[in-house]
Amino acid sequence: MTPEPQRRLIVFTGSGISADSGLDTFRTSGGESLWAQYDPEVVCNFDCWEENFELVHEFYSRRREELAHVAPNKAHFLTVDWEKRYNAELITQNVDDLFERAGARYVMHVHGFLSAMRCVSCGAQWLFGYRRFDPATDRCPKCGRMESVKPNVVFFNEPAPRYAQMWKSLESLTEDDVLVAIGTSGLVLPIGQIARRCPATTILSNLESAETPRDEDFDHVIHGRAAEIAPQLDALVTEIMER
Ligand SMILES: [Zn+2]
Repeated sequence: MTPEPQRRLIVFTGSGISADSGLDTFRTSGGESLWAQYDPEVVCNFDCWEENFELVHEFYSRRREELAHVAPNKAHFLTVDWEKRYNAELITQNVDDLFERAGARYVMHVHGFLSAMRCVSCGAQWLFGYRRFDPATDRCPKCGRMESVKPNVVFFNEPAPRYAQMWKSLESLTEDDVLVAIGTSGLVLPIGQIARRCPATTILSNLESAETPRDEDFDHVIHGRAAEIAPQLDALVTEIMER
């Protein structure tokens, strides 16, 4: 019989973990990337997305196509393994479905989900898969409108409805618990500040090879690409969780 786990484990992830799968991301994009071909202030901006409707959908159609051609890596599988072993809570800023494809039961996507749509008129949300949005045929399944169909991704200037739930989870951690951050730059959500205030044991998987100022905010830091350091990260988390 396995005893009921005493410690909670929250795994907070950002774009770096998916960059290791070859997924092009905003913060890591190079010259030829998809992100370099579109202005995020235009295609990811809630204030003007309706004016740029076709461009917004073209960009997100291309992102879904890109997502269809990548696969989860060792770091995704590791977090899913922690979910099984320790009932870990997976919170991600990523909009891709790589945790789900690695077998995750539940992932809190605080910035939305790329392969889903939302109707800003009636509030309906539905899974859309990896295909292109087609203005000729795609409609909201509930109200039938087309012009109110938006990728179910949180844009700039748009409220993030899951933030309240995320803060509640993070703020409920105690000194017995563990917080692991993987592949997050801290630019959107201040993970360093969160870790500094958090009474739990905090671990940063820092994808940069050199030390960064936010390293000081964590109890443990492991440098290197997420997929490559997965065994080392697993050993550390296992040691603390089973202490
Ligand atoms: Zn609708």
